[in-house]
Amino acid sequence: MARYTGPVCKLCRREGMQLFLKGQRCFSDKCGVAKRNYPPGQHAQRRSKATDYGLRLREKQKLKRIYGNIVERQFRLYFKKAERMAGNTGDNLVSLLERRLDSVVIASGLAFSRPHARHLIAHGHFRVNGRRVDIASFQVRAGDIVTLRENEKTAKVVGEALEFNKSQAVPDWLSVDRTKPSTTVSSLPTREHFMHPIQLQMIIELCSR
Ligand code: SF4
Repeated sequence: MARYTGPVCKLCRREGMQLFLKGQRCFSDKCGVAKRNYPPGQHAQRRSKATDYGLRLREKQKLKRIYGNIVERQFRLYFKKAERMAGNTGDNLVSLLERRLDSVVIASGLAFSRPHARHLIAHGHFRVNGRRVDIASFQVRAGDIVTLRENEKTAKVVGEALEFNKSQAVPDWLSVDRTKPSTTVSSLPTREHFMHPIQLQMIIELCSR
């Protein structure tokens, strides 16, 4: 199934929480959840009580949507990889999602939102260890250095994003040099770096079936 490209505020309303998919707008009183705190759809408010399966499905959908509306097939691949890795599957899963290049760009404050980060990456504005990378799901490794393409327009737009995000705390697994700007992956992210109120155990129960 193709990636969802419709209105993203609907996704937040469906999950009943802010997923922060629109950058600046999410912090204003124009936020869709703030204005209409009920699910989208004509009959959505009449829906009956969620089943156990439904609750688990919603947790999985939230996670997929936060990380850029990951399609089911790709999400299953992440899950399989997380299961194969040593340690807790949930911890591994969020670590893999945080290590995506678009997640690194957002966490470093180099873009306004995830769609903006994906757009910049797809147009080749970022380099990893000096090599152009235009795949948003690219997995960074410890020691990698993310830099910008040498281009006036890129520097301007990323500079504006950095200014907008100046009060945002950068996670300690990333080291950002705002002057260049560049980001060094000092270590790999862990469960402690995952800040979203999502019950990972429910997702594991659903996907392990
Ligand atoms: Fe979600 Fe942002 Fe839209 Fe609010 S403005 S509903 S947080 S995408």
